[in-house]
Amino acid sequence: MLGIWRTHFEYQEFVSKKLLSGAYDQGQLIEHQAIISKLWILNLDTLKESIAYRYSNTDRYSNTGRPSEHQPEFFCAFVLMQHLGVPISQWVNKLSNNFVVRTICGFHKSELPCFASFYSFIERIVGPETKPKIRRFKRKPKLKLKQGEKLKPKHPNITQKLKKKILKGYRFNDSVADILNMILSLAVNQSTNLGLVEPTINVSGDGTCILTGASSYGKKICDCKSNGICNCDCPRKFSDPTATWGWDSHNEKYFYGYTGYFISTYDMTRKIDLPLNIRIVDAKRHDSVSAIVSLCEFSDLYPSLNINAFISDSTSDNYATYELLEEWDISAVIALGKSNNGNSRLPVPIAHDNGTPICPGGHKMVNWGATIMTAAAENGAVHEFSVKLNVAMFVTLARPLNMAESSILKPNGIHVLFAGSRVAQTLGSS
Ligand SMILES: [Zn+2]
Repeated sequence: MLGIWRTHFEYQEFVSKKLLSGAYDQGQLIEHQAIISKLWILNLDTLKESIAYRYSNTDRYSNTGRPSEHQPEFFCAFVLMQHLGVPISQWVNKLSNNFVVRTICGFHKSELPCFASFYSFIERIVGPETKPKIRRFKRKPKLKLKQGEKLKPKHPNITQKLKKKILKGYRFNDSVADILNMILSLAVNQSTNLGLVEPTINVSGDGTCILTGASSYGKKICDCKSNGICNCDCPRKFSDPTATWGWDSHNEKYFYGYTGYFISTYDMTRKIDLPLNIRIVDAKRHDSVSAIVSLCEFSDLYPSLNINAFISDSTSDNYATYELLEEWDISAVIALGKSNNGNSRLPVPIAHDNGTPICPGGHKMVNWGATIMTAAAENGAVHEFSVKLNVAMFVTLARPLNMAESSILKPNGIHVLFAGSRVAQTLGSS
């Protein structure tokens, strides 16, 4: 069960009292001012309600046994560990030797947790499925893909099936994603309150490879070797049992671990990318699947945030995604996949100005995203846009996205209009 959970107000009282009266080198306050302010505004009060509601009497916080103490302090400690880049193996020492770091985590020196408690906390957060397991060894796949090519979805019609389920109200529970996003929502809500996330936003989604530090070979636990058999197929022990092999299309090699799918928004004025939703999935999971599931979860989690446009590389170029986005009234800004090249039903921009193609909105198109700001400004465009796409080459946006006139210029000189249904319709009627 959950132990005593200090409120944010109590935490602030503790920190200010300690920092004002403690005997330590005051220069450390300047050195650590960024992390002090970071934790000073990280209010974990609502997390307590969510954790108590969802996880009481589960194997994470069971109703029997010793209560789990210092949970908000552990959260702060992990935020800080990440910020300072200190590995977990050195963290307990850091806490023990540094008064300011220890204090802003909320710990007294006499009650510092031991090394193993940090691992128990991780296990409690990500769930028991991450405990070492015994299973069969799976070899690295041999099939190599071409440059930029991604593994195809395991089930060909999966996005259509998912779309139907979502529209019927079905939701995909993922205990790890649930808790990660519950924690992340503290920061997202805080950012929204501070005006860093506007009520109407454009979001982009993309997947990335996350490599595990654990061995893909596992540890042999049978005694075949002592009997002279080296190539046995006996089950082995894996310290990261849910990690799998996936294809890294950028580096053109297989990786062992997971795929992370992130939904984020870009603040034009402050030039910052803010992550809004995380999903850590099977390494083989296709981004088109993660995109649909993440968008659905994100909308459920933040009903007050209005998504204007969803921006993605060509992995989301499929009818199910367009139909869902249409249903949710979200504009699609999605790069066309290779198989769709030349498949546009709409006119291709053919006008030129000294060799520079002109988009249907009458604006000069610009090559690559880096120059997009200047070009947008020169063109008198009302909405500038920064698009971080792996595959899409660049975009010109001349008006707000909901009446977007956008085109994409592939490096081989072929101009293709976005396939996004709403965008396409607007283009068609403009
Ligand atoms: Zn064996």
